Amino acid sequence: MPAQVPAQKANTKIDADFLWRGVLGELQVHLNPTGFRMWFASSSAENLTDTSVDIVCNSKHAKHMIEKSYTSLIEESVAKICHKKVKLNFIVRENTRAIKATIATKKRADKKTAEGPLLVQAARKVAPEDYDKAGLSPRYTFENFILGGSNQLAFAIAAAIADNPGKTYNPVFFYSEVGLGKTHLIQAIGNKILQENPHYKIVYTTGEAFTNELIETLQRGKGGKYSAPSFRNKFRKADVFLIDDVQFIAGREATQQEFFHTFNALQHAGKQVVLTSDKPPKDLENLTERITSRFNSGIIADIQMPDTEMRNAILRSRRDSAGDVISNEVIDFIAQKVATNTRELEGAYLRIVAVAKTMGGEPTIELAGQILGKTVQDEVQRKNINVSQVLKAVCDYYSVKGVDVKGPRRNKELVVPRQIAMFLLKDITRMSFVSIGEVLGGRDHSTIMYGVDKVRAVMTEVVKVRQDVANIKQTIYR
Ligand code: ADP
Ligand code: MG
Repeated sequence: MPAQVPAQKANTKIDADFLWRGVLGELQVHLNPTGFRMWFASSSAENLTDTSVDIVCNSKHAKHMIEKSYTSLIEESVAKICHKKVKLNFIVRENTRAIKATIATKKRADKKTAEGPLLVQAARKVAPEDYDKAGLSPRYTFENFILGGSNQLAFAIAAAIADNPGKTYNPVFFYSEVGLGKTHLIQAIGNKILQENPHYKIVYTTGEAFTNELIETLQRGKGGKYSAPSFRNKFRKADVFLIDDVQFIAGREATQQEFFHTFNALQHAGKQVVLTSDKPPKDLENLTERITSRFNSGIIADIQMPDTEMRNAILRSRRDSAGDVISNEVIDFIAQKVATNTRELEGAYLRIVAVAKTMGGEPTIELAGQILGKTVQDEVQRKNINVSQVLKAVCDYYSVKGVDVKGPRRNKELVVPRQIAMFLLKDITRMSFVSIGEVLGGRDHSTIMYGVDKVRAVMTEVVKVRQDVANIKQTIYR
């Protein structure tokens, strides 16, 4: 039988890449273009052996869809190319290739911007009233959003939907603790779309504003500015609906109902919806379960705390765009000291620059130390987080005993919580590796360093671990 795919002779060793190109060629014939792009765009195959091959899907949802609908097609196609039956293992690896490409593009663009303003592409000029109408502020852009391991995934998704609203990931749900850039990112999406597609109706609102507007509408009754139809039209006619801090809506029954109607109408019409929340989806159950049931092509991404290097980059970029006079040394110092979140980092920076200005000089490390000394102290006192709180939170989360975490046993049930405890103790209390070793049953500082690095590395790769860490932190900061 003539194969439509690039067949090789049975005795030639074929590799997974070749196999997958063939399979994709065949699938393209059977699927409509949207479905094909949606599920298979950045899929790949690897680890081809005599008996099995791994099919790498770019998200959990893609894996689910591919497994459910296309397994037999793929099996047939693989058998045709390999001349035998091969078992398929579907695995998920978040769209790293696409993400890396997006990030590389941003880095190139940033470099160009740094090289000279003439190279910056002239963006369409957006009238101030157009920003107002959409609820957007032009200060939040992708260009001034600093990238790092803690926000790469969220950034790549945001950039992808801004380029193609409604056509890639939809809906999108971003979450993080406060002050880590959710508002910046969701606003940057709106700003980019506004620049590129002036005819799009973009609506940015917050959970709180949505609630207040609804209450006013209900109170004022029919007619006028606050009629129900005008409220509905405002949101349901959007091409891009950006709702920030959606946690505010959770648990408010009437608002939630109205929100679902809006959400459903928009999803039905294929319009882009983006949500942010300062709580992970699992803590917003009654709100998110109805949304996530629609999550076939949707995606959830979190933003983590920036590391020192990234905090440094954020402050330097801030200095350069504002033309502030402050040395790299002082910036390094602030980036080291303020490790809570980006908002507090910026706050500390602005305070230091302002105080130095009133004193008529450049900020020095001494001055920064004086100003931050108090802030850092306040922070620790306010939260009053000590070692035993961190350990208890970790133990509770994994249902293990403190003595076992400190003890010598090395089974997996203990090693994971132990390393997470190392990481969180470092991250939250800033203790030295030696002290953390002492607290954790007299372990060597190199063991602690290894554990902290390991968790940090795994966190950038595995969403589940990032979520676990975020969940534990939440119980600590509550
Ligand atoms: P959230 O909405 O998560 O509470 P914001 O988006 O308001 O956080 O961010 C707080 C501040 O930090 C804002 O001024 C924002 O511009 C800035 N910021 C956050 N993340 C970044 C980043 N990656 N690059 C540049 N600035 C950032
Ligand atoms: Mg915000």
